[in-house]
Amino acid sequence: MDYHTLLVHAGWDRDPVTGASSIPVYHASTFDQDDPDQPGEYDYSRSGNPTRAALEKALAELEGGAAAFAFASGMAAVSAALMLFQPGDHLIVGLDVYGGTFRALTRVFRRWGLTASFVDTGDPANIRAALTPATRGIWIETPSNPLLRITDLAAVAELAREHGLLAIADGTFATPFLQRPLDFGFDLVVHSATKFLNGHSDVLAGIAAARTEELGRRVKFVQNALGAVLGVQDCWLLLRGLKTLGVRLAREQATAGWLAERLEELPEVTRVYYPLLAGHPGREIHLRQAAGGGAVLSFELAGGEAARAFLKRLRLPLLAVSLGGVESIMTYPVTMSHASMPREERERRGISDRLVRLSVGLEAGEDLLADIKRALRPEGR
Ligand SMILES: *Cc1c(COP(=O)(O)O)cnc(C)c1O
Repeated sequence: MDYHTLLVHAGWDRDPVTGASSIPVYHASTFDQDDPDQPGEYDYSRSGNPTRAALEKALAELEGGAAAFAFASGMAAVSAALMLFQPGDHLIVGLDVYGGTFRALTRVFRRWGLTASFVDTGDPANIRAALTPATRGIWIETPSNPLLRITDLAAVAELAREHGLLAIADGTFATPFLQRPLDFGFDLVVHSATKFLNGHSDVLAGIAAARTEELGRRVKFVQNALGAVLGVQDCWLLLRGLKTLGVRLAREQATAGWLAERLEELPEVTRVYYPLLAGHPGREIHLRQAAGGGAVLSFELAGGEAARAFLKRLRLPLLAVSLGGVESIMTYPVTMSHASMPREERERRGISDRLVRLSVGLEAGEDLLADIKRALRPEGR
C-alpha cells in the first residue's frame, strides 16, 4: 500500500462501533466490569483507553512495529525508553542528541545510575570505541539536530545485534513517512509527536514504537507504571494531524530543498546544513535509508550579532522553540533548543552562536526567501 493511503487508513480508519468517520473521544477515566474477577478490554484509562488505542494502533502500523504507545510529551516517551534500562547500565548516545534528552541523561538518569557516552555516531568506529562491558543500549538521531548529521541505521542496528544492545532511534525529524528505523533492525523508535506527526503546533505528545511484542510489553509496563499517558483530546488531535503527514511533509521538504540551494547562493550565509546538499557528510547513506531530505535546515551567518539581528528582523517564520508545524519556525539553537546544554558541550558539537535553524512550513518558498533576504539586508541592498 502506498504510504499516503496507509496514513489515512492505518489503525481503525472508522469507528468500529458506529462506523463514524472519526474515532470518538472517550472522556472516561474508568470502565464498568461485568465480572469482578475479570476486567474487560479496558479497565482504567491510564492502562488503556479506546481513543488512545486507536492512535497507538495507527502508529504501530505506520512505524512497521508490533506495538506503539502514546505519551504526554516527547520527553515522556524518551524517559519511558530510558526506564527500560537498569542502574549500572551504560548507553552510547549520538553527540548532538536533542538538548532535553541530553539534560535527562546527564541531570536525572545519571543520578539514578544510568551513564552515557556521547559520540559522533556518523562513524560506527566511534561507537565501537565507546563500548564498555556495561553498555546495554545505543541511542541515535538521524538526521540529527541542529546540524543534520547522518547515522547509518543498518550499520548501527548490526553493531547493536552483535553486542546485544537495545538500539533506539529518535525519529522526530524524519518521521516514518521518510524513514522507518525498525525496518533496519532498530528495536525502538521514539518521537516528539509535537513536531511533524501532529504538525499543527497545537499539541504536545510523544510516541514510542517497538519492533517486537516482547519489547512492546516492557514499554507498556513502564507507561502504565509511571503514568505519563497522552490525554484523549490530544490523542484525537494527533490522529487527525497524522492523516495529512504525507502531503505536509512532501511539500515542506520540497520547499526546504529549494531554499537550502538558494541560501547557499547568498553571500551573507557562510554555511548551509541540509542532508541533500552536495557535499553534506553522510548524504549517500541518507539517500539509502530515507525518502527525502526532510523539512529542517540550518545555516550560519557571519557571527552571533549578525544572527541575532537577522532573527529580530524576520517576519514570516515564528521565532520559537519547536519545529514541524504548518507554519515555518526559526530557532536560535544556542538560546533555545540547546539552551539546556552547557556551552562547552555545545561548542564541542559545532553549535555556535552563528547558527540558526529553520523548520520549513507550508508557505511558498519564494515568500520565505524574500523574507530571509529582507532580514539579511535591512538597507534594501
Ligand atoms: C522536541 C523534541 C523532543 C522532545 O519532545 P517534547 O514533545 O518537546 O517533549 C525529543 N526529541 C527531539 C528530536 C525533539 O525535537
